[in-house]
Amino acid sequence: MAKKGKIVLDRELCKGCFLCVRACPVHVLDKDTTANSTGTYPASVVNPDACIACGNCFAMCPDVCIEIFEL
Ligand code: SF4
Ligand code: SF4
Repeated sequence: MAKKGKIVLDRELCKGCFLCVRACPVHVLDKDTTANSTGTYPASVVNPDACIACGNCFAMCPDVCIEIFEL
């Protein structure tokens, strides 16, 4: 059975580079349509149930905004 994951993304820390969006093989992440308090449009978890806990987004994020939990 495929792994299931839960992603937690800190939208206030996020600088909107979207490396995580491109790294996710199952399209859990996308660009947010609203800005955070710094005026940055961060990444957003748009499809949380699809996460397979591969860790790609966590590995790519230069600012450690992402936590992944294996369910
Ligand atoms: S852990 Fe993998 S599947 Fe889950 S959001 Fe990150 S890149 Fe996508
Ligand atoms: S990789 Fe990190 S800083 Fe870049 S968009 Fe994703 S969460 Fe934000």
